[in-house]
Amino acid sequence: MRMVDLIAKKRDGQTLTTPEIQFIIDGYTDGSIPDYQMSALLMAIYLKGMADPEIATLAKTMLDSGEKLDLSMIPGIKVDKHSTGGVGDEISIPLAPLVAAAGAKNPMISGRGLGHTGGTLDKLESIPNFNVNQTTEHFIEEVQEHGTAIVSASKDVAPADRKIYALRDVTSTVESIPLIASSIMSKKLASGTNALVLDVKTGNGAFMKNEAQAKKLAETLVAIGKQNDVPCVAFLTDMNQPLGYAIGNALEIKESIDVLKGEGPKDVTELTLVLGAEMLILAGIAKDTATARQILEAKIADGSALQAFKQLIIDQGGDASVVDDPTKLPQALSTLDITAKETGYVSAMQTNELGLASMKIGGGRAKKEDLVDPAVGIMLHKKIGDQITVGEPLATLYLNAPAPQEVQDQVLNSFTISAEAPELPELIHEIVR
Ligand code: URA
Repeated sequence: MRMVDLIAKKRDGQTLTTPEIQFIIDGYTDGSIPDYQMSALLMAIYLKGMADPEIATLAKTMLDSGEKLDLSMIPGIKVDKHSTGGVGDEISIPLAPLVAAAGAKNPMISGRGLGHTGGTLDKLESIPNFNVNQTTEHFIEEVQEHGTAIVSASKDVAPADRKIYALRDVTSTVESIPLIASSIMSKKLASGTNALVLDVKTGNGAFMKNEAQAKKLAETLVAIGKQNDVPCVAFLTDMNQPLGYAIGNALEIKESIDVLKGEGPKDVTELTLVLGAEMLILAGIAKDTATARQILEAKIADGSALQAFKQLIIDQGGDASVVDDPTKLPQALSTLDITAKETGYVSAMQTNELGLASMKIGGGRAKKEDLVDPAVGIMLHKKIGDQITVGEPLATLYLNAPAPQEVQDQVLNSFTISAEAPELPELIHEIVR
């Protein structure tokens, strides 16, 4: 087999066979297929797509490219959650300790920022000394004893995804159903989870901007889970505005702490409860959504969810005193308000642009070797439906270097202000089982 012929085959819209997909994944993982050929193939997949059985084979082959964790020594059903990526989407951070406090076992393997979106691992690393790189033994011990751990996939788990993910980020091939579905499911199935809740974002800050495409992605993810005996439930959720008010690593940790204290933004709290309730049902802890929600709300109210977050930080070497004193999180040197030029209602937000603006001031990576600045980011003051008066701040930039005029304009232009009050977007669009 020659890679050049397989690139041509996909370029011409044909279906790759199982041995061909195996040849590609094995060759790229062991380095015999170079980045330039893989880049061409990824672009051909992006443009021509893949048939459902082809996607299932791709996911399975990527899963088989590395080791699979055996979590059978942890009693009970292990349940995890994954998001397809958004702006201000820190849900995993309050969610993991919350469901752990409710008795679920949640082995969470997370990712870093991709494109304009933030990554759970980058956010957690803004907690001084928090270590996302744990041995498999420690990961298992943490889940067994305290219910959750949030770690980076070791280099032996789905190594094909690790390489392909980094290449997609710099070749404009992220927004593809076969590539997103195989990336997520190869990692998640390798992590040894028995059940999975998926948060599939849709809207102008998501990789899938179009609702029909997002639904297709959700169906594809759920189907791959079923084929591998891992029950999955996917929620199609709104990403036409950032979640919460914080965009940026330490800023989102502070907002996560607020959620666990019962003082978080309404949308972040609601989505955490909705996804958490489904996790408790899949784990067999609650029989229905109403009971599951009551359990979770009680864990926030009595402080045990917050305590579980402190425990998670301690288990991974971090400074848990940030929970009681968030000023110990990295702080930006200066702030700059972006003020409204008109009076009216915020009627739309360019979520993707806000994610890019945060990246440009240091909150994310433009190139794969870039370092992320944990302190910087954007705090929103207004979201869709809010009233605004000329001169009032729409957002505040948190900076460690002067913000280029281009970024200030990008943030300002991300808000559409209209005379009429807009219809508010629904947070949960649909559930796919
Ligand atoms: N999250 C992943 O793990 N992979 C993707 O491709 C997109 C989001």
